[in-house]
Amino acid sequence: MRPDPWELDDHADLRTATVVLLDGPQQELSYAVPDSMVDQVLPGVRVRVPLGRGNRPAVGYCVAVEMKSGSTMRLKPVTEALDPMPLLSPALLRLARWMADYYLCPLTAALETILPAGVRDGAGTRLTTYLSVDAEALKKSADKKLTQKQAAILKLLERDGPMTQVDLLRTAKCTAGPVTALRRKGLIRSQAERVQKSQADGVEVRRQKNFTLNDEQRNALERITSAMHEKTHRTILVHGVTGSGKTEVYIQAMQEALRFGRQAIVLVPEISLTPQTVERFRSRFGEVAVLHSHLTDAERHWHWRQIAEGKVSVVVGARSAVFAPTPHLGLIVLDEEHESSFKQDVTPRYHARDVARIRAEAEGVPLVLGSATPSLESWRKANQGEFSLVEMPNRVEDRPLPDVGTIDLRVDANRGSVTRGAIGRHLHKAISNALETGGQVILLLNRRGYSTHIQCPSCGFVLVCPHCEIALTHHRQHEIALCHFCDYETAAPAECPECHFEGIRYSGVGTQRLEAEVRARFPHSPCLRMDADAMQGRGSHERAFAAFREGKIKILLGTQMIAKGLDFPNVTLVGVINADTALHLPDFRAAERTFQLVTQVAGRTGRGPKGGRVLVQSMQPEHPAIQAAVRHDYAAFARGELPIREALRYPPFTSMIRLIVRGPVEEIALEFAKTLAVRLRELLPDDGDKTREARILGPAPAPFAKLRGLFRFHIQLQCGDGKRLRDATRELLAKLEAPKEVQWIADVEPIDMM
Ligand code: ADP
Ligand code: ZN
Repeated sequence: MRPDPWELDDHADLRTATVVLLDGPQQELSYAVPDSMVDQVLPGVRVRVPLGRGNRPAVGYCVAVEMKSGSTMRLKPVTEALDPMPLLSPALLRLARWMADYYLCPLTAALETILPAGVRDGAGTRLTTYLSVDAEALKKSADKKLTQKQAAILKLLERDGPMTQVDLLRTAKCTAGPVTALRRKGLIRSQAERVQKSQADGVEVRRQKNFTLNDEQRNALERITSAMHEKTHRTILVHGVTGSGKTEVYIQAMQEALRFGRQAIVLVPEISLTPQTVERFRSRFGEVAVLHSHLTDAERHWHWRQIAEGKVSVVVGARSAVFAPTPHLGLIVLDEEHESSFKQDVTPRYHARDVARIRAEAEGVPLVLGSATPSLESWRKANQGEFSLVEMPNRVEDRPLPDVGTIDLRVDANRGSVTRGAIGRHLHKAISNALETGGQVILLLNRRGYSTHIQCPSCGFVLVCPHCEIALTHHRQHEIALCHFCDYETAAPAECPECHFEGIRYSGVGTQRLEAEVRARFPHSPCLRMDADAMQGRGSHERAFAAFREGKIKILLGTQMIAKGLDFPNVTLVGVINADTALHLPDFRAAERTFQLVTQVAGRTGRGPKGGRVLVQSMQPEHPAIQAAVRHDYAAFARGELPIREALRYPPFTSMIRLIVRGPVEEIALEFAKTLAVRLRELLPDDGDKTREARILGPAPAPFAKLRGLFRFHIQLQCGDGKRLRDATRELLAKLEAPKEVQWIADVEPIDMM
C-alpha cells in the first residue's frame, strides 16, 4: 500500500480525479485517487470528496482521471465512490462538456440533463442483502463446533450460492437462530446488492414485414447505409413530402445498423410519440425502448439500464432520448427535424438536432434528419454541402398530393353574407360532401378554449391575466376565464369589471366554440375535440385516435396536436379554420411556422385510395408562405424567405443569442437589462470585420412583457460568428452580478422569441 497522499513525497506519480460538484463552486476540482479506489473512481462516477478548510463532505461527478507524474501537488483524497459503475460513458461526458460550453450552462446542469433523475436516484431498485458462506473462514475454523442445523445451512449455501435470508430460512426450514449464530462465528457473510424490478410493459404487437422500397426510398436508404459503412459521420437531410415513405426508410436503415450489432436512436417530437408511431417501430423490431415524458422515474431507469447493457437495440423517444446511453451506437434518426419541441425551454436550452449532430460526429455514425418542411437552418446547410441532401418528392404508390384550395375570409365578410362562426360557406359545403361520400374530416384551429378574447365594447377594457398581461380565454365548461400561460383563472364576468356595462363581449373562436359549431352544423356526424384541455387523462390520445381510426368519429377537430404525423387513409378533407393565427406574431420565424403548419396538416389527407383535399381559410391567402404551402412547394418557400432572413441578418445567416432579464420590479429589471446591453456593446466592438460584426438589439420589453408576475426585457444578439457571441456572453455570465430578485438567462440559438 502506498502512503496516504497527504504524505506523498513530491515526486511520486499521482492519480488525480477531476471533480465537478453538484452544488457550490462550478470550477473543476482535483483530488487524489487512493490506491484502494483505483478501480472505483472512474470518469462518470459520482464521488464524495472533502471540501474547504473544514473538509465538509460534498458530492460531485468525477469527469476525468489522469496520471500526473512528478507531481508536486498536495491533493486531498477522494473519500468514496458512490456508484458501482460509471453512469456516463466517455462519449457522453464529452457531450456534456460541449453542451456546457455551447449553451453557456454549468457542467453539472448538462450532466444532470444527460442522466435522468431516476437513474441518479436508483428509482425502482431495492437494496437486497444476500448471504453466502465465507469459505476462508470456514477452512480455518474446522474445529469449531457446529450444530446439525448450522451444518445443514452451510451445506445448502455452498450448493445453491448466495441467497436472501428469507429464501434461506424457507429452503432450510429453520428459524433465524442458527443463521444468526453462523454470522456471529463469521462463517456466513452478507453482501448488499441493488436489484431492479422489471418495468417491461409487455406490449405484444403483430410483427410485420418490410415494404419493398420504391426507387426513391431505395436511393435514400443507400445514401444512409453507405454513410454508415464508411464509419465516418455524415448528416443526411431527407426532404420528403408527407407520405413519401420516409419512416420505412428509417426502419430499414436501422435494421442495417442492427445487423452489425449496433443500436439505433429515433427522435420524434413528443406530440407525435403516438401509439401509431410506436407501433410502427414495435411491429418491425419487437422490443423497443420508448422514452416519453410520462414515464415514471422507475420506468425510465429500467429502460436506461436495458439500453446501457445493450439489451435493447432500438430507442424511440422525444428530445431527451438523444442522450440514450447506447454502448454501440450505429445511427441516429431525427424525424420532423423542423419541430420546435426539439429545443428545451429550460436550462440547458439545448436543441436535440444540434446535440445529435455533435454526438453522431463524436461516435462516427450518420445522423438522418427527416422532414417535409425542413428548418431553413438545415436546408441552408444542405445547400452549402455541409449536410447531404436526399429528395423524396413523390408519395408512395404514386398517390397524389392533395389538392389545396384557399378561402378568402375577406370576401365572405365583404359580401355582407358574414357566415356566423368559424366555418365559412365553402368549407361547410366541402365538409358535407366529404361526409356524404363516406370520408372523414380533420379541422385544425390552433387556439384552445371557447372565446379567445373578452372585451367591453363600451369602454374597451380587455380582460387580461393580472400576472401575465395576456388576454384571458373563456372556457365554457366551468364558466371561467383562464390564463393559458400561468393557469390563473377567474369567473367569466357577466358585465365589464371596469365600467359595469352589461354587454361585455366574448369573441374570437377557440376549439371549444368550434366544437359547438360543428355539432350544431353536422348533428348526425359524431365529432371529437383534441386539445390540451380535452386530452388530459392517461390514454386519452390512444382512445381518441382509435375511435377515429375505427370510424366511430367522423370529424376530428383540434389544435396542432392533430396536425402531425397521423396516418388515416379515410380522411378526405382537411380544413384549416384560420391559417393566419401564427402569421403576425413578432417572431422572425412566423412565416416559416405558418408554412410548416399548413403543409403538415395538409399531409394528413389523401393517404388512401379515395384521395383528399384541403381547404385553408385565411384573411391573407396571397401570403407567400400560404401560397407555397398550397402548391406543396418547399423550394419556393425557401427561395422567397431566405433573402429576407439574409437582409435582416437573421438565422440561418447568423447565430443568435437572446438574453432575457426578468424581475418583479419593472424599473430594476430594465436598469439591469440596460447595463447588460452597455457591457455587451463594450465586449463586442465593431472592429470593421464584416464577418464578425455583432448586432445588438434592445433592451426592449419582451413580446410577453409580464409573465407570472415578473416583468421581462430582452436583448437580441446576432452575429455571423457564433463563438464571438458566446464568448462575450459567457464572460458576462461569470462576472456580472444581477441585483437581488433579478434573473437573467441566455438562450443560445433561441426558438422561442416571445
Ligand atoms: P412519411 O413518413 O414520409 O410521411 P410514411 O412512412 O408514413 O411516410 O409512409 C406513408 C404510408 O405509405 C404508410 O402507410 C406506409 O406504411 C406506406 N408505405 C411506405 N413505404 C411503402 C412502400 N414502399 N410501398 C407501399 N406502401 C408504403
Ligand atoms: Zn397568467
